[in-house]
Amino acid sequence: MEQLDWKKLGFGYRDADYNIRCHYRDGKWGDLEVSTSNTINLHMSATALHYGQEAFEGLKAFRGKDGTIRIFRMEENAKRMQLSCDGILMAKIPVEKFTEAVYKAVKMNERFIPPYESGASLYIRPLLIGTGPEIGVKPANEYLFMVFVMPVGPYFPEGFKPTNLVIMRKYDRAAPQGTGKFKVGGNYAASMGAGKLAKEQGFSAVLYLDSKEKKYLDECGPANFFGIKNNTYITPLSESILPSITNKSLMVLAEELGMKVECRKVPYEELIEFDEVGACGTAAVISPIKGIYDADNDKWFKYGNQSDAGECSVKLYNKLRAIQYGEEPDNFGWMTVVE
Ligand SMILES: *Cc1c(COP(=O)(O)O)cnc(C)c1O
Repeated sequence: MEQLDWKKLGFGYRDADYNIRCHYRDGKWGDLEVSTSNTINLHMSATALHYGQEAFEGLKAFRGKDGTIRIFRMEENAKRMQLSCDGILMAKIPVEKFTEAVYKAVKMNERFIPPYESGASLYIRPLLIGTGPEIGVKPANEYLFMVFVMPVGPYFPEGFKPTNLVIMRKYDRAAPQGTGKFKVGGNYAASMGAGKLAKEQGFSAVLYLDSKEKKYLDECGPANFFGIKNNTYITPLSESILPSITNKSLMVLAEELGMKVECRKVPYEELIEFDEVGACGTAAVISPIKGIYDADNDKWFKYGNQSDAGECSVKLYNKLRAIQYGEEPDNFGWMTVVE
């Protein structure tokens, strides 16, 4: 058995021992299957390959100080995957089947869950694809749901490091009434061009404006956006953003910490008013942002002291992390202990 260097994990694909699969055939989901193979045998005319019938999820399991393994809010991911399935007409995986598969994938790959001290965690990737062959544009008759896992390193191995975002009005991630609110691969394909351009110029991600009017803040490529001012946590309300479970959790914790919470349209002009801004998602919880560059108007918005995350962001981050690692009581029933 190879010994993993937990400190040097990063975020890359890595094989674990097992993955879990479940087939939808003849109008119903089958039993969960355990596989040791990292490949699938797929019909070349599967709808996933041609017409983008693909949805995925991302969540994490953590090992606490006492060794206890906990999975964060997996029912929420299950429900969100159902929304994605409805959104692109795929067979819906039942919530219980989803959570059972996630639990099983974590349990069976227990040896890949990094020790508490490493700050690393186990990333869980459920996905659902249309496998039935079609060449006309219509939903498949057959689907495959899978869950695989891999250990990933801490997102900020050297501590919280704020980065810069860029606004480029030439690019959209999703249409106003399109698939932006579903976690489907197509949105990611659509945002890769702008994302690459942003990275080449030293930005960590694109901050998208609403695609219709370019007046309001939407979200980042793979993460939701929030700003903080006057002790208020403010996050955009939009038809085209993906409802982040991390964001949802941070809103709850912000209230716990005595902050006000607003989920509403956030006009571009408000960027100048924030004391702190950040991007949030499963990978990093919070990625603090020190600057936003409006490339179309050659204009910078700067936040904080340029080297550290803001006070509220740090508090929110620490609070959520403490719950995930079992250091603070789980008052909201967010964690599933793996026995
Ligand atoms: C997955 C995702 C997020 C973050 O969601 P979490 O549930 O917090 O991980 C944000 N935006 C997009 C576009 C995403 O796909």
